[in-house]
Amino acid sequence: MPELPEAEVVAQQLRTHLLGAQLHECRVGRADIVREGLSTLSWYHGAVLEGVERYGKSVALGFKKEDELRYVVAELGMTGLLLFRTTQTKYPQHVHVRMSFTGGHESELRYWNPRRFGRLSLLDRAGLDRYRARRFGVDPLTVPRDEFVRLMQAKRGRVKPLLMHQQVIAGIGNIYANEILFRARLHPNREVSRLRGTTIITLYDIIQTVLREAISCGGSSVKDFFAPDGTEGQFKQHHLVYGKEGQPCPNRCGRIIRRLQSERSSFFCPACQSNRASR
Ligand SMILES: [Zn+2]
Repeated sequence: MPELPEAEVVAQQLRTHLLGAQLHECRVGRADIVREGLSTLSWYHGAVLEGVERYGKSVALGFKKEDELRYVVAELGMTGLLLFRTTQTKYPQHVHVRMSFTGGHESELRYWNPRRFGRLSLLDRAGLDRYRARRFGVDPLTVPRDEFVRLMQAKRGRVKPLLMHQQVIAGIGNIYANEILFRARLHPNREVSRLRGTTIITLYDIIQTVLREAISCGGSSVKDFFAPDGTEGQFKQHHLVYGKEGQPCPNRCGRIIRRLQSERSSFFCPACQSNRASR
């Protein structure tokens, strides 16, 4: 957490509130929060925020100064958040970077990261291309269906880890993998190479539906996700299996939602999500 839908909500808010604003100052509290490019920090002063893109669970802010473009990429996976000045956090000492803006709807953007699993990177265009190529597989929202089918058919292994493998499909984490597999009626341990083509197409459609629904709900606020303006995502109310151990299956099959013995973060219905290769 955050996963793709939450990162998309962050990107949308940054576009709405800060596109066209000028970066007045960028203060880095801890040098080790910047993965690469710290020596280019002074370039960003006076640059204009020209675009905001989401890659996987990361958000890239594109800045322009004179004729040059440079990027600030914020990793949000695990515990990182981008917050406007007015959004309070429980542990303000974990704000590691402050960017102050003029000419936007917000005056400051903060990178808050209490556990420092994520980092910021300051990159030029070539650096951003390398960064993306190294870290991110296809985007589940934009990959064409036939390409997704080919991609899955070329893989082996269990379906849940594959959905969460960022270098294959970028953006799905544990929460959405659980929700997607329940709706697709696939056991988390199903062997990918044994899935029928029609099952993979259904899986593709469900991935699209779940992620888009989650984005329209503002994401899921589990373990402290807040959008930059402080709002909580409402998709948690739509979760069918994540965190529902011991509750009746929402398909009313009569069984109880369980966790995998070997993988405590995997929730599933033992009846609706059979591990037998019937589908
Ligand atoms: Zn069931």
